[in-house]
Amino acid sequence: MSSHHPDVLIIGGGLIGAASAWQLSCRGARVLVIDKGQIGHGCSYGNAGWVTPCFAMPLPMPGMFIKSIKWMLDSQSPLYIQPRASPSLAKWLWRFLRSMTRRQMLASVDALVELSKLSLAIYRDLDIKARGAFGFSQKGLLMLAQSSSSMTAAVEEMKLVAARGVRGLRISASEVSTLEPAVRADSILGGVFYPNEAHVEPLATVRHLIDLASGNGAIAQPNTEVLDFVGDNGIVRSVLTNRGEISAGKIVLAAGSWSGKLGAKLSIKIPMLAGKGYAVIVPPPSKTPSVPIMLVDRKVAITPRATSLRIAGTLELVDLDESVTMSRVHTMMCGARTILDVPANPCITEIWRGMRPCTPDGVPVISLAPRFSNLYIAAGHQMLGLQTATGTGMLVADLVTGSTPCVDPEPFRAGRFN
Ligand SMILES: Cc1cc2nc3c(=O)[nH]c(=O)nc-3n(C[C@H](O)[C@H](O)[C@H](O)COP(=O)(O)OP(=O)(O)OC[C@H]3O[C@@H](n4cnc5c(N)ncnc54)[C@H](O)[C@@H]3O)c2cc1C
Repeated sequence: MSSHHPDVLIIGGGLIGAASAWQLSCRGARVLVIDKGQIGHGCSYGNAGWVTPCFAMPLPMPGMFIKSIKWMLDSQSPLYIQPRASPSLAKWLWRFLRSMTRRQMLASVDALVELSKLSLAIYRDLDIKARGAFGFSQKGLLMLAQSSSSMTAAVEEMKLVAARGVRGLRISASEVSTLEPAVRADSILGGVFYPNEAHVEPLATVRHLIDLASGNGAIAQPNTEVLDFVGDNGIVRSVLTNRGEISAGKIVLAAGSWSGKLGAKLSIKIPMLAGKGYAVIVPPPSKTPSVPIMLVDRKVAITPRATSLRIAGTLELVDLDESVTMSRVHTMMCGARTILDVPANPCITEIWRGMRPCTPDGVPVISLAPRFSNLYIAAGHQMLGLQTATGTGMLVADLVTGSTPCVDPEPFRAGRFN
């Protein structure tokens, strides 16, 4: 295949682009994936690695209005909205506030749980075919509460997802320490255990999906940045990159947090803010957890790895500002220390930040772009881009090839923002 005339050009080599490339290549399409940097080195590089349908809540939730005002004033809160005078931020926040209804939240949970369950099934199948290739482990997930309000919230979420086929069990503090001896029982009130949830290594997952796509003839080209589009009459003919012009029959925009700005070049409205989060890698503590843990009060995610521990969290709604706020990293580490024997000054081997692509209603856009007949959008997966990637890839391939969609595509329509 000439890399300049693919059937489908995918912009963005993160989890969403890689999963779409794999699924499209399975259906015989000649696929080219391009990325402005290294493949898989965007938000998909160092996330917590969870594939957890139980954790399928959209960002805007009922009752968050007052909280979000407080968050704007507290730079240490788990969710921080960076205040600034910007019309796009104002519009995004207005849609975010409007999405905080129970009706919208339930509709979003339906869509996100369904896509997550499908994705988990695909990951499990991929692991069976290539054991250990991307660190898939299905040992469950512990949500731990340190206050009664968090316990109530965790149980409410458990009921919400149970009604959608995701099993969870409420457990006491002593049951937690029997199940997971690394957790200090006196540091928590109790929690919820979800036995069927899984975790993976995120970068290895991108690489595995790209390898599978390459096996079907796809090409992945790093260091190729899309600068502009050439098109007319609702058709994108080609993209202009720093490495020349690339024409393609169909184009999938899977550029994560950068998709809003790229879409704007074609006057497509994809309201998108980056939800910056951090992850640090530390050596395993003396007692290492065997399952991933979410500290509900502090929104800190802890994931066991082969020879280390990943501690991830915080969500700062920013406009592609990639700076690192060390105080937030420390707050996250302190959170982990409240339940585990992590030393006060652990030898941190990596500090990473990633830009979660956040739409104001918390639901990704997976759809044909409004007014275009050959441009598709697959972006805006907020905190759930890994756990919904393989299902997203399948839906993208269904839409691009005109097949029956694997899930109801309606909640993911781009046109909802027009
Ligand atoms: C701390 C943290 C923890 C997380 N934990 C989890 C988790 O446990 N489970 C989960 O499901 N999700 C998690 N997430 C969210 C998840 O990482 C994202 O939703 C997901 O990575 C988004 O994938 P993507 O492919 O859309 O974006 P990205 O991985 O960011 O990929 C987009 C790519 O597009 C490229 N690009 C941008 N502009 C251009 C251009 N002009 N030309 C060419 N290429 C371009 C970028 O370089 C990038 O590589 C976490 C996120 C963070 C920050």
